Amino acid sequence: MLNHSISRRAFLKGVTAMGAGLTMPRLPGLAEWRAARIATRPDRIVPTTCDGCGNRCGILVYIKDGYPWRVVGNPAHAKSKGKVCARGHALVREVFNPDRLSQPLKRVGEDRFEPISWEQAYAEIADRLNAILHSYGPGAIFWVDHPKPFKYYADRFMAALGSPNMTSHPTTCYTGRDVGFIATLGALPSGDYSESRYIVLIGRNPAEGVTPAILVAITAARDKGAKLVVVDPRLNNTAIMANEWLAVRPGTDLALLLAWAHVLIGENLYDADFVTRYGEGFAEFAQAVQEYTPEWAAEITTIPAETIRRIAREMATARPRVFIDPSWHGAFGAHYANSSQTARAVAIVNALLGSINRVGGLIFPKDAKLGDLDPGQHPAPPKPELPRADGAGLAGQFPLALAKFGIPQRIPELIESGVYKAGFTYHLNPARTLPDRERTLAALRKLELLVVIDIYPSETAMLAHYVLPESMYIERDGGAEVVPGKQPQVVIRQQALPPVGNTRRASLIATELAQAVGLGNYFNFSLEELNRARLAPLGVSLEELKQKGVMPVGDPWQEGMPADLATPSKKVEFFSKRFQEAGFEPLPLWRPPRTQPPADDPQAFRLIHGHQAIHTHSTTADCAYLMGITHRYHLERLWLNAGRARALGIQDGDWVVVENEHGKGAVQAHITEGLHPDCVWLASGYGGFSAGLQVARGVGISPNDFMVVAYEPISAHAMMAEVIVQVRKATLAEASLAQRAAGDAMARWQEVVKAERRMRR
Ligand code: SF4
Repeated sequence: MLNHSISRRAFLKGVTAMGAGLTMPRLPGLAEWRAARIATRPDRIVPTTCDGCGNRCGILVYIKDGYPWRVVGNPAHAKSKGKVCARGHALVREVFNPDRLSQPLKRVGEDRFEPISWEQAYAEIADRLNAILHSYGPGAIFWVDHPKPFKYYADRFMAALGSPNMTSHPTTCYTGRDVGFIATLGALPSGDYSESRYIVLIGRNPAEGVTPAILVAITAARDKGAKLVVVDPRLNNTAIMANEWLAVRPGTDLALLLAWAHVLIGENLYDADFVTRYGEGFAEFAQAVQEYTPEWAAEITTIPAETIRRIAREMATARPRVFIDPSWHGAFGAHYANSSQTARAVAIVNALLGSINRVGGLIFPKDAKLGDLDPGQHPAPPKPELPRADGAGLAGQFPLALAKFGIPQRIPELIESGVYKAGFTYHLNPARTLPDRERTLAALRKLELLVVIDIYPSETAMLAHYVLPESMYIERDGGAEVVPGKQPQVVIRQQALPPVGNTRRASLIATELAQAVGLGNYFNFSLEELNRARLAPLGVSLEELKQKGVMPVGDPWQEGMPADLATPSKKVEFFSKRFQEAGFEPLPLWRPPRTQPPADDPQAFRLIHGHQAIHTHSTTADCAYLMGITHRYHLERLWLNAGRARALGIQDGDWVVVENEHGKGAVQAHITEGLHPDCVWLASGYGGFSAGLQVARGVGISPNDFMVVAYEPISAHAMMAEVIVQVRKATLAEASLAQRAAGDAMARWQEVVKAERRMRR
């Protein structure tokens, strides 16, 4: 069980005790750092990239008196188009967050860390790592992170160790979508929003899972008369911009799509020429959807049959400048047992509309290939020969799961079974973001070596043997990367401020760690040398890229189907040979979610979850500015359908208890007509419990706490909405306890705001 009594004071005991290796205490360190910046840095504007979410938008950071006083979107960048979301604005001020890690830390007791030098950290980690390699071999080591340009270093480090167990977060995010689309179209397309006449979003919510350029493009399309239809159990913030919101019963999107296919084919509204030229297995699919009438789907989805029929006809009228968005996490990224097949159905309905790689439809973004280091001068480690421990991409295990991402929710199981002995985490916080918190915590504690590279003392950092503090994104240089799109671009992150305290960029940490382990021959290059090598084939100079932040490269996108798709038949696969060969249903037939809230239980709900525009999972939860918005608008509350709430005697703002066999928590209720009655909704990113996080700790509850570890067999995603909970009004005692904890969290937030203000004076 998690020891909730660990105090921040205990966590930092080594810091305040000032061991011999500590060179800079926390808060004075920040003040000194700021004074040094003011003395040495002139005013300037630095083009770089935001790190608030996976978009990594191009931004321009304005530095005045050594202070990041303004950030704007780089107008040239495809993802930001000159805009920055709330996170982008707030996060530059995180340099002043007093919770930040500023010194390598070593665990010296159950809940105690002491500061050590980088040299000591590297030497001790290397000793332990070499011992583990000697005793168990490289397969006992895993690395888990969020995909970043830094991945080049992480991949190289793990390959140098000989371990294949590079893991990232997509099975808890979007592999259902990826595997479904790759099986059907050979690649993942994106919507040509600004040129579309008809946009359908299923579970996609760009106003809260924000990509600024998509919002700009949707607005442009709406101004030109495009219709926007949002399919979501929740009236999300994108639905507010839509012509129509379809409040689908959660987990039944596949039935809606099959009924749309039924209407398009049955009424001969589909693009027969496209299907004939580019499709494979259409006859089998057409036969299969004959039974999926709008009336049948209405029973399942709770969307009226006439609405289903009308929208199918409207989409057909708009074709080919129409698309159903490939979406992201919601609906079919990692939610339900039927998600991978739902993704196949989305791809297929788009094909019926003839909108694949068409203006205003779905387009295959153009990419550009980065160069690499000269292997003669900079030897690359051989590809690990061992099979992946988690079975991703392996016959007999998860043959269609994407090996490049792995299956992160298997990490606890692989630790429990003795396969994993050592782990590295970077820019990911599995103790908070994986399903089944207690199991994850217990497993991570069993590791012989856990190294966490982070900016904050996250929940995972609290379990580490060594915590290595990373500089924030505006304090570090990064690797050049390509942004695919209608016009591919190359972008680069660069340092705008000197690092706080004794922090380092992760690419330097990986290099120095490899040297300590005795693998420095694979890291005999500087970041600048790597960036020059990557840019060489693109004809872009590093100097010019640093000056502009983003530049166009390669050929622009062109309309029209490619000669061959990357599917077994090289065509759009209505009937998937890849699925069939792997033992899965080759046609997307109706299959319900694997769980259902019992209809006769008034307290039973499906728990669904999603993004809010101001947070990115747990990574932004300790930002006082963003959490201030949460506090002001009560964004941590549980959404509950008004009719269901009335029946349970629950009013807006009441404390409710949410529980199932995996977790229990109290939270206030947000009563709304804007939610399907079958479900309750929680925002992800709350429920922080690290003693080191003053702002994040104790705010709200996390949907992860009610999930069991699960693997959908096709793409190995975590089925994160196959979760049934009981919701009831809290007792007076429960409410008063929860109220007191919420009050404590608010008081800590106020203290941090004051501390940050003091530091900026
Ligand atoms: S969408 Fe917002 S948080 Fe994400 S990279 Fe862009 S500005 Fe940053």
